[in-house]
Amino acid sequence: MDDLYRELILDHYRNPRNKGRLGEADISHEDDNPLCGDHIRLDLKLEDNRVRDVGWEGEGCAISMASASILSERIKGKSLEELGRLGQEDILEMLGIELGPVRLKCALLPLKVLQAGAHGLAGWPGDEGE
Ligand code: ZN
Repeated sequence: MDDLYRELILDHYRNPRNKGRLGEADISHEDDNPLCGDHIRLDLKLEDNRVRDVGWEGEGCAISMASASILSERIKGKSLEELGRLGQEDILEMLGIELGPVRLKCALLPLKVLQAGAHGLAGWPGDEGE
């Protein structure tokens, strides 16, 4: 793993952004990654169909927590349509590292929770026909 990106992930893991529940969320969803034991709950507050505020809670490995923290920063101000276009490649670009299939599920859990909450999609992002 590249040192720069490892620093980014450790920084978000140790100092998670937007962590905590939102009082009156418009969208609230949670899910887990049984392969690793990661659990994430995401709250979104919307205004004019855009994300006005985001809060999340969870526990799990550094990759899943860092991914949730980084994603929470990226989705503020985005419309629901824009959220629906976020995919596996966007998460990998945010994290900046190559991941094997098991760690990939960790990294994608926050996006899975986001997509399920915002659009009712149940499968793992990037998995076709599941
Ligand atoms: Zn994990």
